Formats: sequence, structure tokens, C-alpha cells
Amino acid sequence: MIVDLRSDTVTKPTPAMREAMMQAPVGDDVFGEDPSVIELEKKCASLLGMDAAVFCPSGTMTNQIGIKILTQPYDELICHKGAHIYKYEGGGLAGNSLVSVRLLEGDRGRISVEEIEANINNVQDAHQPITSVVALENTVVREAGSYYTLNQVKTISEFARKHGLKMHLDGARFFNAIIKTGDKAIDYGSYFDSISICLSKGLGAPVGSVLVCKKELEPKARRMRKAFGGGMRQAGFLAAAGTYALNNHITRLKEDHVRAAELGKGLANASWVKSVMPVDTNIVIFSVTNQTTPEQILNKLAEYQIKAIKFGAKEIRLVTHLDFDDAMLEKTIEAFKKISI
Ligand SMILES: *Cc1c(COP(=O)(O)O)cnc(C)c1O
Repeated sequence: MIVDLRSDTVTKPTPAMREAMMQAPVGDDVFGEDPSVIELEKKCASLLGMDAAVFCPSGTMTNQIGIKILTQPYDELICHKGAHIYKYEGGGLAGNSLVSVRLLEGDRGRISVEEIEANINNVQDAHQPITSVVALENTVVREAGSYYTLNQVKTISEFARKHGLKMHLDGARFFNAIIKTGDKAIDYGSYFDSISICLSKGLGAPVGSVLVCKKELEPKARRMRKAFGGGMRQAGFLAAAGTYALNNHITRLKEDHVRAAELGKGLANASWVKSVMPVDTNIVIFSVTNQTTPEQILNKLAEYQIKAIKFGAKEIRLVTHLDFDDAMLEKTIEAFKKISI
């Protein structure tokens, strides 16, 4: 039994999901004629309380399009210093949108109104780029899946709007946050101009992300998807997997959170672990002691056929998902006990 905890992107479609894919009616989506894509887009828009959505191949693309349609070249975007849009999208912000980025310290990946306020540039001063967008990430991948509550989001959004700033949400793990907080997904729409959600993380679809946005932004989003090379043809096979995931795999995310918490507890007792970041959702990040290295621990885990990834000079990351069950959890906790340095 191989246990793959490197990411929640490693899941394979379930038999029922494959069946839904096989049965999907399809058409040419660049002509707007794929019924399964249209169904998924409508579903996402209504789930999140917005009126338009655009299906894309990846979460990087939905983030990049979201930011592109909310900014002008030379603008500045505010986000947390560990934000995926800044750190893990290949410099796309600079290349695609020609914007500069103001990075905030935050508190476990969450930024506050006070910090944002202190970092809005003076539009009257020609030296300073025009601050135009605040981008949040929920949950926060770099900070072990920490999350914002809807109330926190509301406070930031109302402040941003008062200052004429647009709001983008990187919601790659949006539904993990919803399951954790009990907030309603539909209440999110009014606080953002664009929201990116991933179907291929915890939801278990093989491919795909959706950019949910305001109706007036939709034509520009579709134009940019084409320009970025993301216009797909009979994409309904993939969209059907996404719709299936939204119908069947949201509430079960709480199992991933329970198992992640168990992994965190197991690690807290291991002699080779220095500290474990608080485990809020489905991501576990821990640092190893001075006596060892992430590589050494990863090699030991590999002896038990457990895969994880190095996530910093001294850190390792584990992510729970649809294909990580209780038997695998038990095996992994046992391995933690057996490993000694
Ligand atoms: C995975 C992820 C994305 C999108 O990644 P893709 O691999 O391009 O789909 C965006 N934001 C966060 C926080 C992520 O974890």
C-alpha cells in the first residue's frame, strides 16, 4: 500500500466519477456549446452567489485571469508574502498582468485591514504605483491550511471597497474553509470581484478550476482564457468530473481534516519532530530537529512507502485527500512511531 501525502492533487477519479465523465454530453466549448461545461459554470456561479463562471485547465490560470481582469499594467496588488499567486505561479503576475506586488507579513497567512491600510499607495503621488487589488487565499497553503472566516473576509472586503480596491480570492481550497467554518459558500460572492476554485485538489477531480466572477467581467475573462491558451474544446468530460465532485465530495472534506489532525498529533510525539504548525484543515507542516534533515526523514518514510514533500529548509508537508483512508492513516501513524534518528 503506497501512501501518497505529497498533495491533495494526487487523487485519481473514483469509478462513479469516471462513469459521470463517460456519460457527459459534450460540444465545442470555445463556441460556447458544451452542455457539461455550461452546467458546471452555472453551478459554480450559483454556489458562490455570483453570476458568471469560466472553466479553465488550472488554478494558476484562474488566478492569473482573475488578476488580469482586475488590474491595469503598472498597478499594484496587495497579498500575503507566501501567497500562491506570488510564490508559486512562475512569475505570472509580472508576466501576464505587468503589476507590482506589495507583500504583507500577515498572521499565519491572513492579512488584516490595518496592514492593508498601511500599504495603500497615494494615488496623487506619481512615484507610487496605483494600488488596485487585494488578493486573499482561503485556505492558506503556505501556512498549513489556516483559514479566514466569512466575517473576517467581510471586514476586509468592506474596507477594500471603501478605498476603491477590487477583491480577488484564491480559493484553491475554498470548500475546506467552508467545511471548517460552517460559513455559507453563497455568501462569498458579494465580497469579491473574482474567485478561483480548484476542482482537482480535495474535491478529487482529475483536472480543472473555475473562475467565478461578476457578469460584467465575464467577456474579458473568456477573452483572457483564450489569450492564455486555455480555451478547450470538448471539455465537458472534465467539467462533468467537476460537477460530480461538487455534488459528492464537499461534505466529506471534514474526514480529511480529522485525519490531518491525527497526523499532526502523531507527529507531535515523534522525537525527530521539532514543531508542528497548527493543523486547521487538510494540510500538515512540521519542522524536523537539528539532528536531522527533511531529506533523511523523507527517505525513512519512503521505506514504509509513504510519500511527503520537503516544504522549506527544515520543513515537510503532508496533505490529506480523497485517496487517503483510515487504514493508510493507521499505517502512517505506526511508521511515525517506528522511525528513529
Ligand atoms: C494548487 C493551488 C493553486 C492552483 O494550482 P494549479 O496547480 O495551477 O491548479 C492555486 N492556489 C493555491 C493556494 C493552491 O494550493
